[in-house]
Amino acid sequence: MAKRRASCDMLIERLSAFLDGDLSATECARISRHAQTCSRCTQLTAELRRTVGLCQRAASTPLPPALRRRARASIKRLLQEDAKAH
Ligand SMILES: [Zn+2]
Repeated sequence: MAKRRASCDMLIERLSAFLDGDLSATECARISRHAQTCSRCTQLTAELRRTVGLCQRAASTPLPPALRRRARASIKRLLQEDAKAH
């Protein structure tokens, strides 16, 4: 089991909130800040920026279900790859 930093877990939780259209601009800024200092989360957020435009859409707008599924799959895949790498 990979040892995870608490701030990474927090980021992943926030990403889930973002996918549900439940993330404030402040929290988006927090995600971006952490991703800048963490290579693992840089990868996670880069993938989401490509697929769902992380923090670029209004946080109050839920993503279309198909896009949400895709983004969740991306997160899951990256986390699995990350667990294997450790
Ligand atoms: Zn991190």
